[in-house]
Amino acid sequence: MDEVKEACGVVGVYSLSRDFNVAHLLYDGLLILQHRGQESAGISVLTGKSIRSIKGMGGVDEAIPEESLAKLFGNIGIGHTRYSTAGSSNEANIQPYTIDIGDTQFALAFNGNITNHLELKKNLIRRGHTFTSDADTEVIAHLMISYLLESDLNYNKAIERTMELLEGAYSLVLINNSGQLYAIRDPLGFRPLSIGELDKGSYVISSETVVFDILEINYLRDIQPGEILLINNGRLEPRRVFESSNSAQPTAHCMFEYVYFARPDSIVNGISVHDVRMKLGMNLAKFHPVEADVVVPIPDSGRVAAIGYSQQSGIPLVEGLIRNRSIWRTFILPYPELRERYVKLKINPVKEAIKGKRVVLIDDSIVRSTTSRRIVNIVRKAGAKEVHFRVSCPPIISPCYMGIDFPRKEELVAANKSVEEIKEEIGVDSLGYQPLEGLIEAIGLDRSRLCMACLTGFYPNMKAKNIKQKKLIHKENGGFIDESSLNRSRC
Ligand code: SF4
Repeated sequence: MDEVKEACGVVGVYSLSRDFNVAHLLYDGLLILQHRGQESAGISVLTGKSIRSIKGMGGVDEAIPEESLAKLFGNIGIGHTRYSTAGSSNEANIQPYTIDIGDTQFALAFNGNITNHLELKKNLIRRGHTFTSDADTEVIAHLMISYLLESDLNYNKAIERTMELLEGAYSLVLINNSGQLYAIRDPLGFRPLSIGELDKGSYVISSETVVFDILEINYLRDIQPGEILLINNGRLEPRRVFESSNSAQPTAHCMFEYVYFARPDSIVNGISVHDVRMKLGMNLAKFHPVEADVVVPIPDSGRVAAIGYSQQSGIPLVEGLIRNRSIWRTFILPYPELRERYVKLKINPVKEAIKGKRVVLIDDSIVRSTTSRRIVNIVRKAGAKEVHFRVSCPPIISPCYMGIDFPRKEELVAANKSVEEIKEEIGVDSLGYQPLEGLIEAIGLDRSRLCMACLTGFYPNMKAKNIKQKKLIHKENGGFIDESSLNRSRC
């Protein structure tokens, strides 16, 4: 799928041992999260009393030469891999973002999109702040500066005040030169963020749990929506400070993490992405059965759903399309002309598997339809007798403002055409989309806990006045207690 780019990936490592260098662990974590953004990457480590960073454009291995990691010796650090959703694709926007206020220094990196960042930026400029980039990260950093100065450098207070103003999606990691690591998630929990235990008193934060799996870190739990988790002196100090007061939308976990963004070997909000994709494929076979000879996944994101379709329908799965792995970045290139150039080299059919066959193609989604049409052409030229297209995501009809770079509504094919018209446009014998109920059933969360705005056009209300400030304090045995006597409205 070419038209949708991932948001970003973040990692944070806190080691209690001062002899442990976190730079290599951060680097490996970013390599594992590379699918969430390949435009730029960076690592910041507390080295002695100051935070040092290595950042660059491109994938992790290009942006951060491995030999340069020796310059970053320290036991606390964060890393970021980026696809730009707000702010242009240039070096000034590379994260982590580092700020000095006198002797105090902090670095932050985030995944998401601040929907009111332009308004916040205007206010900050009016108050004398100057900006060096057009990214929303810098707005978060400037709010932090303001509130740190106001609160006598109290990070807990400054983060809480900053969260009061932010609207949108953010999963954020922050380190400071006092040796603290923070993990923060927006009140509706759009983007994932989890914590694992490296060793007693040592922790890893990651956008996706697959990092814990591969690096053999013990997964502990997800950061809760609205939670500020501080790791300090080897102790976890969690506070859930915001919670949606809207019972119709207690959380807004992005459904697209399950359909496409997250790796299938990740657990997102306690749910296996692999299992969701299998069910999506099985549901497609139930809702849109067809007589066919082979099921062919569109590599790689359609693969697990294709296995589900094949298992449910009994139609054998074949690898009829081969992806050129050396140009795996095609789908997240930021400019159409670059995508166009590379996509031609990207997919090749296995003629022997397709020729003379009735083929069911499985993909995760259709956005503009240009790539789908191109792939259908490839399959027809390879000699397919019939081509049936099944899509594991329901029709995408609205843009995303929460960190995913969908095109404008005018370019979204399902916003402007019926299923029948799309079928004609991409040139298939039949076309079947996942129904909304099938998606919700496959994820297994109540619909009120999901963001599905790009499918329905109904956006979660992120206005601060709809989100209660709660004083929720972590209990010894896990979970949170609600000190409701302290509750107050945010507005
Ligand atoms: S609008 Fe769509 S892609 Fe964006 S956060 Fe919501 S579900 Fe995810």
